[in-house]
Amino acid sequence: MSESLVSAGLVSAGLVSAGLVAQSERPLPRPTVLSEPFWAACRERRLILQQCAGCQTHVFIPREFCPSCLGTDLRWVPSSGQGTIVTYTVVWRAQTPAFEVPYVVAVVRLDEGPELVTNIIGSPPDAVRIGAAVQVEFLELTPEITLPCFALMPRAEVAP
Ligand code: ZN
Repeated sequence: MSESLVSAGLVSAGLVSAGLVAQSERPLPRPTVLSEPFWAACRERRLILQQCAGCQTHVFIPREFCPSCLGTDLRWVPSSGQGTIVTYTVVWRAQTPAFEVPYVVAVVRLDEGPELVTNIIGSPPDAVRIGAAVQVEFLELTPEITLPCFALMPRAEVAP
């Protein structure tokens, strides 16, 4: 959607009909100075988090200070990319046609502690469960944006 239309208030005022606005573009994250290292790592298919040098707390989303001790010495460190589904929902009616339904939006708690809102991919929605172990997978949307999504961990094979 054109930013100029939005900033002019035309869209929110309903003065621009849906037919005049591209509906097929998936909305994308917009990296900031603070979050750019995260997105750069995603482009390399690496998941990184901030970690406080003072109290060792892992921090996500990217911040300028530690939410635990208010320290400002935050460093980027690798994440295991593994976590657990805290909760999820299945979306059947997408906001734009750019999203293929159904899809799963979940809160995943990383093994390091922080939680992130993400998509569960690679499984039918009815296979998703709260508490399931997941592993990060990367979805390249554009040359700039690669999204960290998560997939269910394969269940351990039981020896015969
Ligand atoms: Zn801290």
